[in-house]
Amino acid sequence: MIIVLFGAPGVGKGTQAALLSERKNIPHLSTGEALRQAIAAQTELGRVAKQIVESGQLVSDEIVTGIVKEAMDKPEYSNGCIFDGFPRNQSQAEALDSLLEAVGKEIDSVINIKVANEEIVDRMLKRGRKDDSEEVIRHRLDIYNNQTAPLLDYYTNHGKLISIDGNADVEEVYARIENIL
Ligand code: ADP
Repeated sequence: MIIVLFGAPGVGKGTQAALLSERKNIPHLSTGEALRQAIAAQTELGRVAKQIVESGQLVSDEIVTGIVKEAMDKPEYSNGCIFDGFPRNQSQAEALDSLLEAVGKEIDSVINIKVANEEIVDRMLKRGRKDDSEEVIRHRLDIYNNQTAPLLDYYTNHGKLISIDGNADVEEVYARIENIL
């Protein structure tokens, strides 16, 4: 099963991806988490990505697509994957489609978690990650609106998109997602 958890930063994709992964036994791939790990470990990739991630910009398509490709080559991903934070623009969406097509797979569902902007900013400020200052959050929301949200049409046109209301507690949102799988 290939699932993409979609939505603005702070809607709870990471939380839901971790729960789904654990309860359904499907591996979870967060490009943001992979980048934060590389930054913490000060790898070559981490050094390149640090400034970009901390200022709320998008890391290059080449880098993130490379992260995804490398993960998908591992045997544990052969039965499926829950993507969180990828794809984030048209070119990444097309790259994912071709990566999957090359191994005879396709996305089953893109689950769009919807939460109001003010609530998002609130949640992220509480989280207090390095890229969660109010200014950087606003910037990330702009990037989401300009580059990522247009994918909603792309996935609607491909018959993959299902939207749910993410304004509820974690277990309730989980139940809504489970319901549609
Ligand atoms: P959030 O969903 O809260 O923004 P993520 O962990 O998904 O958090 O992403 C954190 C940061 O990592 C992004 O702001 C961006 O700098 C980088 N990043 C993550 N995924 C991608 C991606 N697919 N393309 C480009 N940059 C990415």
